[in-house]
Amino acid sequence: MNPGDVVSYLEMCTAEGVNLQRGMNFRLRGDYSVILMSLRPNAPYADRVESEGRVLIYEGHDVPRTKDTPVPKNLDQPMRTPGGTLTQNDLFYQAAAEHRRGSREPALVKVYEKLHRGIWVYNGVFKLLEAWLEQGNARQVFKFHLELAEDVHLDHATGQTATTLDHDRLIPSDVKLAVWKRDKGRCTKCGSTDNLHFDHIIPYSKGGSSLVAENIQLLCARHNIAKRDNIE
Ligand SMILES: [Zn+2]
Repeated sequence: MNPGDVVSYLEMCTAEGVNLQRGMNFRLRGDYSVILMSLRPNAPYADRVESEGRVLIYEGHDVPRTKDTPVPKNLDQPMRTPGGTLTQNDLFYQAAAEHRRGSREPALVKVYEKLHRGIWVYNGVFKLLEAWLEQGNARQVFKFHLELAEDVHLDHATGQTATTLDHDRLIPSDVKLAVWKRDKGRCTKCGSTDNLHFDHIIPYSKGGSSLVAENIQLLCARHNIAKRDNIE
């Protein structure tokens, strides 16, 4: 799987080998973690993308809604579960703190973004560099600073890392959505709806922008590979 690939929820779960029930999954398998994000207007958390798609500021997650906590948005995001174990918030927070202290490499985090109901995009591998607590709306939330790991590519089957020369930037959600609508969820070459990928018409490394829909198109896997072979 490559950054910009469009996947269904099922394909995403198959790629990770688990049923992804929650948005934050510290060290899901092997040495990497997985987070699910959404920048849609009705998204439950205030995730944001900065620096032309190189930086992701990801918000921690609330306590689960239960009989005792009917309005999680009124409560501080938790460090511990009621049972006393570390929450996903704290697992990511501790990993970032250890990295800041210089005692470990940044955690590698695979990021999937929800684009539409049942439609997800793989945004690539990010490095978790910082975490902090932020006071907002009378409660405390976790914030995580992640940066696109431009030199890291994860093999999904093994969880092993390898280097990559693919320097394309994260495409902003509104651009992805505009392209998805314009191309009607189909490959612009053959109309296929399978294995779609958000393709930079002019690659970022050759000066093409990630920020305008005019430079992004949907291609199926076959046409994406054919195009890469032609360019390189
Ligand atoms: Zn095609």
